[in-house]
Amino acid sequence: MDVSFQKLVDIKALKKMVLANYAASGIPIGVVDAVSGEIYAGVGWQRICTHFHRKHPETLARCVESDTAIAGKITKGETLAYKCKNGLWDIGIPIMCDNRHIATIFLGQFIYEDEKIDKVFFKNQAAEYGFNVDDYLGALEAVPVFTKEKVGSILEYNKALAEFLSDQATTNWRLRQEFAQRKQAESLHTELESLFDHAQVGLMVLRGERHLVKGNQRLADILGYGSPVDMQGLSKKALHLTEERYVEFGEEHHNALTRGEKLQIEYELRRKDGTPVWCSLSGKALDTENPSDLDKGVLWVVDDITEKKKAEQTLKESELLMKNIFNALKEAVLVLDPQRELINVNHATQDIFGYSAKELYEQSTAVLHVDHEHYLEFGNRLRETFSEAAPTEFEFEARRKNGEIFPTEHTVSMMKDDTGKALGIVSVVRDITERKNAENELRKLLSELERSNNELKQFAYVASHDLQEPLRAVAGFLQLLQSRYQSHLDAKGRHYIERSVKAAQRMQTLITDLLSLSRVNTTPLSIETHDIGHITEQVVESLQMLIQEKNADITFGNMPCLPVDVGQIQSLFQNLLLNSLKYNENKNAYVVIECQDQDNEYCFSIKDNGIGISDKFHERIFLVFQRLHTEQEYTGTGIGLALCRRIVERHGGKIWVESQPGQGATFYFTLPKKR
Ligand code: ADP
Repeated sequence: MDVSFQKLVDIKALKKMVLANYAASGIPIGVVDAVSGEIYAGVGWQRICTHFHRKHPETLARCVESDTAIAGKITKGETLAYKCKNGLWDIGIPIMCDNRHIATIFLGQFIYEDEKIDKVFFKNQAAEYGFNVDDYLGALEAVPVFTKEKVGSILEYNKALAEFLSDQATTNWRLRQEFAQRKQAESLHTELESLFDHAQVGLMVLRGERHLVKGNQRLADILGYGSPVDMQGLSKKALHLTEERYVEFGEEHHNALTRGEKLQIEYELRRKDGTPVWCSLSGKALDTENPSDLDKGVLWVVDDITEKKKAEQTLKESELLMKNIFNALKEAVLVLDPQRELINVNHATQDIFGYSAKELYEQSTAVLHVDHEHYLEFGNRLRETFSEAAPTEFEFEARRKNGEIFPTEHTVSMMKDDTGKALGIVSVVRDITERKNAENELRKLLSELERSNNELKQFAYVASHDLQEPLRAVAGFLQLLQSRYQSHLDAKGRHYIERSVKAAQRMQTLITDLLSLSRVNTTPLSIETHDIGHITEQVVESLQMLIQEKNADITFGNMPCLPVDVGQIQSLFQNLLLNSLKYNENKNAYVVIECQDQDNEYCFSIKDNGIGISDKFHERIFLVFQRLHTEQEYTGTGIGLALCRRIVERHGGKIWVESQPGQGATFYFTLPKKR
């Protein structure tokens, strides 16, 4: 702090005193700042000093030497009388402020009356430094001369003055200091107040019987009051939801506060409108010296933690939900830590394996595996794939508590945190006994089906093949009978023979068709790349008679070359084209054969403008013997489309129809580009 002399004493008054002092005593006086050297008051300066000694560098050096000698002593608070090297007397009296030397009263220069003036010394000085002797000696004459007694009394007076000035300076300085401290404290206080008022956290001071003496805006916001003023004087109860809660709260926490402890709790406070608000409260007695007396007040920091509580609640609910789901699962779920220690199992685990959760925690999960060594080896493989998030699935034989061994399917996955650190392993175990049984059953059925199918194929082939022979004989003899004995028979007889011939012919067609269907099933495919365009042209050629009869128009799109069994694909086109012409009564009948490239396959279409087929028959027509017409309406065996489907499927494609009655039909089938 600044202890500058001029700020601590009244300089104007000092100047007056110094003048009066000089007038009364005749001794030259100067008051000089001890730090800056500034002269606050000065009177009676001697020409011998100002015009001679302080003008020449060598005599000036002596003056400075004197000044320094005086200053050195005076700093310690001592008064010093000193005869300078230029032969004149000087006295310095220190003015102190709180033990610090702040200024000096200088008396002098003067000469003692009983001191013989050494004129020779001065004359030598004049000669040495080039002073005008007369002028120099004249200036020496003017230096005041005092008796020792006079100097003694002047000194007494000035010592008293210095003491007075010291006291004044010290008092003033202390006052200033105190004032400054108070100011500082005041500004600190205002700063604290403003911090309190504008804090982002709710603050309140409860005093005595816990009335709210001070609260800030944030607290008002939390509790639903307009401003802190509205809360002033609120009773303790106003902050609690119910009397019971208050009593419980008060009892529990009052003691801790009186022990000077910092209290940290979560509690539901009451808003102005009576609704609750979850807050975190931390409180401490303001009087830390004597906390048992809460009269100085308790400072509470209040934070609205509604959101946190909500999040906690949501978390709790979702945890509960997860737990319920966990236990509702039919699959056994085992959760292990990264060291493969069991940390959680669900109810299904206990149901499936027959062990209680406690038993499982106590024993190793090894008891659940038939071949634990093998299981560990999987576990190790899984560990290697820990970096991958995808779960690993495998089947495994497990053992129940009662020793029963049963098949299971494991889905094992890693739990990781956001940083990818492994948290544990979740193993989901399904009892697949039923599935395994069903699979075995299915396998058995399939092989049986295959066997009977083969037998059936065999039978169909043998039957149709072996039937052909006798049938050919019957038909042949019937025709002989018809040609040779027709004239011997009456009309009825001729009619019977005619019908028998027709029936035999129809049976022959049926057998031929059945035979070709059975061949498609049994003969191995002979695949070679063929130009489908060429195949269709041949088919059209072979149907020329019917085409002309129907006066039909046949058009083709571009056709690819594909690896196919040429005989089968021929009969595929033949059957479809034949149907397009047969089931077509249109005077301007047409058939359009096209092909579309579709990535891995070609899609062929055979579109006609014939009678069409209702939706409900779109599937059925592809089955054997399924016909939609009588033999009288349209001849046929009901084998054609079944044959087509078989051919397409053996080539790895699909066949279907799009049609509506009266709007023609489009048959589609696909053939893969590669076998
Ligand atoms: P079939 O022609 O010998 O009766 P298919 O298996 O070839 O036997 O055909 C089954 C049935 O599908 C036919 O009876 C006919 O009713 C219907 N059908 C097949 N092709 C067409 C077509 N292009 N237009 C209308 N109906 C058709």
